[in-house]
Amino acid sequence: RRAGDRDGAGGGGVIGKVGVIGAGLMGTGIAAQVANAGLPVVLLDIVPGAAARAVAAALKAEPAAFMHPRNAKRVEAGDLDADFGKLADCDWIIEAIIERPGAKRELYQRLEAVRKDGSIVSSNTSTIRLADLAADMPPRFAADFLITHFFNPPRYMRLLEIVAGPATRPQAVAAIRDFADRRLGKTVIDCADTPGFIANRIGALWISAATRHAIDLGLSVEEADAVAGKPFGVPKTGIFGLLDLVGIDIVPHVGDSLLASLPPDDPYRAVHRAEPLIARMIAEGRTGRKGKGGFYTLH
Ligand code: NAD
Repeated sequence: RRAGDRDGAGGGGVIGKVGVIGAGLMGTGIAAQVANAGLPVVLLDIVPGAAARAVAAALKAEPAAFMHPRNAKRVEAGDLDADFGKLADCDWIIEAIIERPGAKRELYQRLEAVRKDGSIVSSNTSTIRLADLAADMPPRFAADFLITHFFNPPRYMRLLEIVAGPATRPQAVAAIRDFADRRLGKTVIDCADTPGFIANRIGALWISAATRHAIDLGLSVEEADAVAGKPFGVPKTGIFGLLDLVGIDIVPHVGDSLLASLPPDDPYRAVHRAEPLIARMIAEGRTGRKGKGGFYTLH
């Protein structure tokens, strides 16, 4: 059974309607997973028409984000400015916009004017600490705010990392944990508010090491993945296939963010190397499946 394939279960207990802001790779996948669980979703993007286009593309994607085409009807796609008011009756609002603290915080300020009391706001950030996102926000926001870090693609990846702040209401954390576990089929883990949380902290280490050794040893991606695929617990894709899946542009992004915040003696510093090959691939648009192919050619 895939994570989130709980179609038709109806209702949602405390969480009955979900808002997702940012209809990119992650936001669209998260919205689809919530719709697959039987709940109505409002999906908004700053680019006019982008959310509607993203839902249409998610229906055709391989693997499809929607379990069944009818689930897409539960997603109400809209434009951020015109449809912001539609977030007013959402019980859980998930922010999945561009990874820039300033943009996220500006959005949270705006949300405070529309969201209902008791609603929960979470960020899908992969690298920004909760303390930085919630700093100087009003107490009402801080009480209802946490990080919910989904993995790509949300329908297939079971892991959900949760980070709560010192001011986050325990009931809000409990509601999200329960919903994610029972309705989305997630394995939920609580993380400290540290750089890269858990998965990216560990993942960046082995992805950097694998890339570096494959380049230095002159291995083909097929050879490297034959070793660092199934035997390492990355069964279907291997490490380089995984990078194609999540987007190769994420590699320097996560790397830079970790380097900026990790302690001086962290082991990541020893394996990290800015790879010219990765930079060249990104410059050429070879960012993986979302671009013109990556380590593996698109068929
Ligand atoms: P993306 O670039 O695919 O999508 C971001 C979307 O947000 C775009 O459609 C953009 O138009 C929209 N947007 C930008 N600013 C906005 C604003 N102010 N209001 C509304 N919409 C806005 O990015 P993504 O990969 O989906 O990442 C989104 C978030 O999820 C980031 O915080 C990222 O760090 C995190 N994340 C990404 C991955 C991944 O594998 N890609 C995994 C986990 C977490």
